[in-house]
Amino acid sequence: MNAPRVNLLGLDRAGLERYLAGFGEKPYRARILLRWIHKRGVTRFDDMTDLSKALRARLADETEIRPPEVEERRDAADGVTKWSVTVGGGSAVETVLIPDRGRNTLCISSQAGCALDCAFCATGKQGFDGNLTPAEIAGQVWLAARELERRDDGRGLTNVVFMGMGEPLLNFDACVTVANLLMDDLAYGLSKRRVTISTAGVVPNILKLAERTECALAVSLHAADDALRDRLVPLNRRYPLAELLDACQSYLSCVGERRSVTIEYALMKGVNDSLADAAALARLLRPLRCKINLIPFNPFPNAGFERPDPDAITAFQTYLLNAGYTATLRATRGDEIAAACGQLTGAVRDRTNRRARYIARLRQQPAAAGQEGLVP
Ligand code: SAH
Repeated sequence: MNAPRVNLLGLDRAGLERYLAGFGEKPYRARILLRWIHKRGVTRFDDMTDLSKALRARLADETEIRPPEVEERRDAADGVTKWSVTVGGGSAVETVLIPDRGRNTLCISSQAGCALDCAFCATGKQGFDGNLTPAEIAGQVWLAARELERRDDGRGLTNVVFMGMGEPLLNFDACVTVANLLMDDLAYGLSKRRVTISTAGVVPNILKLAERTECALAVSLHAADDALRDRLVPLNRRYPLAELLDACQSYLSCVGERRSVTIEYALMKGVNDSLADAAALARLLRPLRCKINLIPFNPFPNAGFERPDPDAITAFQTYLLNAGYTATLRATRGDEIAAACGQLTGAVRDRTNRRARYIARLRQQPAAAGQEGLVP
């Protein structure tokens, strides 16, 4: 059997250089390849006219530039596009492009499903089918870049957030590779502040992150005390708040004084949205250089949580602003195509049985009958 072809979409500059050096090619040809693949979107080696015929033939023999297969595409009225793409194990993951006031932000998935099972997140309910490869993650970016070329809005891709399905810091090497590709001038050329890896709090890998990439860090906090956070984000039982905040401090001391961590806080009615919660959050974050991003809870069928009333959301935000924080409210986009935070589900081949247990639980609740949108 032939060896599987290397999908060049998943190699950053260092990876391409290593690959080329492996058969005696000049490493600088990696630069030419990067530009063809990511800037110009070329997938046929024959079109890469400034590479020698021999190199083109070798590349065509051993490698490929294979974007992910799109299973479904949905366009919302507000300009948001969501793709469902097929990945290795037979699952599908979702990618969302969000045009917004001068920016084109892409939200990418790093795993098929998610193993963390946060109480309020639809992705977790689908179970888990493993890590995506670097090519599967970078492929999502490649697709969106081609779409933006077609839209020709003069901006192209401006921001990428690892906030789709999965926990990026549990697919560490692949996500670091893609982050570095995103920041490479010869590929996507995004600045380090415009590439953000978001984590539910995988402490050991937060500590490693700054050593491997300069991209920005966001932490999904959602609670200011361990008792509540244990319930909302089960990973907190392993890495409680004090350790998580220490890790954020270490990260900042590594990346430099002038940078900050983004704290994500999903507001859930009657759970974490009172002024006392806001005060506790303000107190907890006092030592940390951070910006707070409030996400009004995005509903999905049988979530068991609700979005707070608009007044409560405003009061929470105002409290933080008065306490001296930068506190932004994340606009809900792509709601009608279930593309908002926490609504991405794809079609994950669950290897953990979590989905089956979730469905069984729903079936025991008579109130849930007839609205099992998550359960086809
Ligand atoms: N696993 C990573 C990456 C996912 S980012 C992380 O936890 O950071 C997706 C963001 O949306 C996270 O902050 C997540 O907590 C939040 N989220 C999940 N479900 C949500 C929901 N139903 N409503 C609002 N935000 C949600």
